[in-house]
Amino acid sequence: MMTVEAPPKVDKGRVAINREICKGCGLCVEACALHVLALSHEINRFGYHPAVYQGHGCNGCALCFYACPEPAALEVYKLEA
Ligand code: SF4
Ligand code: SF4
Repeated sequence: MMTVEAPPKVDKGRVAINREICKGCGLCVEACALHVLALSHEINRFGYHPAVYQGHGCNGCALCFYACPEPAALEVYKLEA
């Protein structure tokens, strides 16, 4: 039987996280319906585990941006098709 691999998910958005401003609250992780955000195992200079982008497939919906209580910790850019 032949198996067909799913094509890699294409990013339609780019998430920029400032790891030194992020407080590791995890609200952006919870907000992302595609589960492409996680909290890092590493810590920043304040001892928080910052959010990181993992995998592929961000659609640029910006739900994570609106969930984030820290100004300038997280920005979302919509990528050109
Ligand atoms: S922009 Fe949307 S899909 Fe991309 S990481 Fe944020 S919540 Fe997830
Ligand atoms: S919501 Fe903002 S402060 Fe909280 S983990 Fe995500 S980027 Fe960091």
